Amino acid sequence: MEKTICLLPGDGIGPEILAQGVAALKAIAAKCDHKFVFEEAAIGGAAIDKFSEPLPKDTVAKCKASDAVFLAAVGGPKWDNLPANKRPERGLLGIRKELGLFANLRPALLLPELANACLLRPEIAQKGLDLIVVRELTGDIYFGEPRGLEVKNGLRVGFNTMIYDENEIKRIARVAFETARKRRHKVCSVEKSNVLETSRLWKEVVMEVHKDYSDVELTHLYVDNAAMQLVRDPSQFDVILTGNIFGDILSDEASVITGSLGMLPSASMGSDGPGLFEPIHGSAPDLAGQDKANPLATILSAAMLLRLGFGLTAEADLIEKAVRKTLADGFRTGDIMEEGKTLVGCQKMGELVTQAINDLA
Ligand code: NAD
Repeated sequence: MEKTICLLPGDGIGPEILAQGVAALKAIAAKCDHKFVFEEAAIGGAAIDKFSEPLPKDTVAKCKASDAVFLAAVGGPKWDNLPANKRPERGLLGIRKELGLFANLRPALLLPELANACLLRPEIAQKGLDLIVVRELTGDIYFGEPRGLEVKNGLRVGFNTMIYDENEIKRIARVAFETARKRRHKVCSVEKSNVLETSRLWKEVVMEVHKDYSDVELTHLYVDNAAMQLVRDPSQFDVILTGNIFGDILSDEASVITGSLGMLPSASMGSDGPGLFEPIHGSAPDLAGQDKANPLATILSAAMLLRLGFGLTAEADLIEKAVRKTLADGFRTGDIMEEGKTLVGCQKMGELVTQAINDLA
């Protein structure tokens, strides 16, 4: 298979971790006889420094011309005082919009090798945690109009609009049901239909779409209950389907309980065109340039790129197995370090995973 991948290293630890993700992809290409052509483009603070804008046109063009986009992270204190529309994070929102990425998929998986890092009590952690949050990414209260800040009757007022149309709900529901078909065939739709009209429509449309997926079990939870259930017994969840704002919060909650931000990948998909694959963490300016960052979230994002972007399931499995082998062999970066394990830096961790890819059958 021949594919073009557009690399967006971004800021902070971005370039260091992305280099390790690319090394894993190159190892897969060599081992499995694929050709991956890498293009690189600027985004975030790096693009502001070079081109005075967080998302140059050339970056958008390169991303659109590629088969997948592989991003590290953007942002840092250097650019924190810029106006909102000039900040590095604008580059991220902009590229999601340009690529029409309406579905964000975030797995939260507690690897047995890292069970001690889990923030939950051992008897809860033992039941396992292997779920994926499918979050709608381009609608909801984050984008709804009208929005604004005003003075009304002498009082300052802030307002936003929570809004979804049925087509937006249908397409994200399909992504969730399709995802469940590749997993344990369970979808839990999360909303607040006891209070919000938007959520009532959400629930109604999800139930309609479900008629095409009778092999998948569908359940419903209010968002407040879902937040509780995630810490009480996350093993009950397979796929959580939810809107933009609830998904923002729940996906962070689900991932942090695994205890290791540096381990968690994500994918954002549109209806056609390239998907975007990135670790969930930020640019960790406190670690930048010190070879201390954990590259595994980025390497696992490369696995998602292969599986969801290119349909290369066996190759994605191989990367995930190589990561688990490296952990089982006792190697850890600082963020996941435990007593009795061997501390390694970002580059060494990447090299160990690449070696494991080469060695595994
Ligand atoms: P962060 O995720 O960068 O860091 C939070 C904490 O986790 C820090 O202590 C950091 O050292 C640690 N950490 C993060 N990734 C790690 C890794 N791979 N290995 C080891 N430790 C890791 O979040 P923050 O500090 O809130 O934000 C820093 C910058 O990143 C800000 O400018 C923010 O806007 C940006 N940010 C970008 C993204 C993105 O690009 N998708 C996401 C979140 C934050």
